[in-house]
Amino acid sequence: MFLPTTQAEVRERGWQRLDIILVTGDSYIDSPHIGAAVIGRVLSKAGYRVGIIAQPDIRSDSDILRLGSPRLFWGITAGSVDSMVANYTALGKRRQKDDYTPGGENNRRPDRAVIAYANLIRRHAKSTAPIVLGGIEASLRRISHYDFWANCIRRSILFDARADILVYGMGEQTVLALAAALDEQTDWRPLRGLCYIAPQPITDYLMLPAHPTVASDPRAFTQMFHAFYRNNDPVSASGLCQQQDTRWLVQNPPAFPPTTEELDAVYELPYTHAQHPFYETQGSVRALDTIRFALTTHRGCYGECHFCAIAVHQGRRVYGRSEASLIREARRMTAHPQFKGIISDLGGPTANMYGYECARKLEKGACPQKRCLYPKVCPHLPVDHGHLRRLMQKIRRIPGIRKIFVASGLRPDLIFADQKLGDAYLEDLIRHHVSGQLKIAPEHSEPHVLARMGKPAIEACTLFRQRFYQITHAAGLNQFLSYYLMAAYPGCTQKDMQRLRHYTRTKLQAAPEQIQIFTPTPCTYGALMYHTEQDPFDGTPLFVEKDRRKKLRQKEEILPGRAPGKAFRKKARPRKKRS
Ligand code: SF4
Repeated sequence: MFLPTTQAEVRERGWQRLDIILVTGDSYIDSPHIGAAVIGRVLSKAGYRVGIIAQPDIRSDSDILRLGSPRLFWGITAGSVDSMVANYTALGKRRQKDDYTPGGENNRRPDRAVIAYANLIRRHAKSTAPIVLGGIEASLRRISHYDFWANCIRRSILFDARADILVYGMGEQTVLALAAALDEQTDWRPLRGLCYIAPQPITDYLMLPAHPTVASDPRAFTQMFHAFYRNNDPVSASGLCQQQDTRWLVQNPPAFPPTTEELDAVYELPYTHAQHPFYETQGSVRALDTIRFALTTHRGCYGECHFCAIAVHQGRRVYGRSEASLIREARRMTAHPQFKGIISDLGGPTANMYGYECARKLEKGACPQKRCLYPKVCPHLPVDHGHLRRLMQKIRRIPGIRKIFVASGLRPDLIFADQKLGDAYLEDLIRHHVSGQLKIAPEHSEPHVLARMGKPAIEACTLFRQRFYQITHAAGLNQFLSYYLMAAYPGCTQKDMQRLRHYTRTKLQAAPEQIQIFTPTPCTYGALMYHTEQDPFDGTPLFVEKDRRKKLRQKEEILPGRAPGKAFRKKARPRKKRS
């Protein structure tokens, strides 16, 4: 059964009033892959009366007031993606499609959705319950941040949304503790994983440079970002304070990740894996095609690629579900009427990080000055693909499952770092888990660009390709590799793209079409470099392509049909002869 989204459903349950109303920029998709659904289910399991309003009309009160006013709090999320990323391409064009909107047309998610929804509530629900922000947009905009779309440093979204509390990270434990504190009217301010506005800083918290300073001084902004980034591990982080105007943003240390049992419980709540019928009548959502039969093995990432915010949002620590829980979920899938025997993904932020972690990190927190995978896999990381192989084998044997694909990203360097089982994993992966094509993401070939991306040297990708085709041919399979590449990353010039083109044609023997123009998303080192035009680690000036036409040229350098060193031109259509 879905959580209620209409007053009729609230009445059906015999409820007079909801405790919590969640407002989301996605449609209401009841899946463990959708944050609002997960938070709603977790709160509901704890006994709270929760309703969900998806993609409310921001021009009237008809949607936002349809469930009344909640007793404890409003929870706002922009949805699964930052609304500016969802609404605009890297070149600033409006996106036409939205996989999380009924019917697929991108016409329901407002720009800066968190602020728009908070304003909507303030406008129409006077003297209402506290407004709590969460989800990826709020989480990654919680301190002063570079906003690519406004091309400036914006202050914390908590201030711009005039909200009361911000829950950052994945949020289940924090939101449960917050609901209990609001219900019992106890002090919620010391809770981990929260940000709030205070008239004074907290004395033993680390002081970040003030917003007006970081907004005008790139060096202060860099210093602020380093301090913010290093204080993101639950074991070692300090609380942070940053003056925004006359008031202070307070960020408590991060919540501890859930235990395996707690995470299993989150993923085994009674999701329907469907869109709520109220929204389904408006059209289906494409996102369900990829997530309905996908299994999440873990959260967190050791990778820390500088263009990605996962390490900030989910953390550098990888924590996973038990094998038993994943097998139970796979078995349940086989009973679903729409299941055709195919699990579309078995993975997480990166597929092959399941089942091992660094003991030092668990005890003392992630190293502040060292990275787990860059420039090389850290010898303290006990890379072991054994757990993942065993899990894959067991799921393959479940009656009713024909195929399990791995669609999540892979780290070839981790495979090669696993002397004992890396190659056996690769054999299993290639023989049993490729859906015709396997995607890998070298992103670039040039050492100085890769260094600024925090990615390893390209040799691991070249070696991976070689082994992939050896195993594929030996198995008599017809499958191939495809590659994700990135253009216009800070430090990358047109010449670098020409060299990347040469690498793809000679070493990969491919003409990749999956070329993404870099988008500087909030709270990433990539966005910091884009804004400051400096290397944040050694302060050297950095070339950054900011001209839209030239960004496009970088991308076009790689596309098939483009002659090396020449501007890309579409083939001219043959003209009709005039009679
Ligand atoms: S010791 Fe190595 S693997 Fe462990 S946290 Fe530090 S860098 Fe990461």
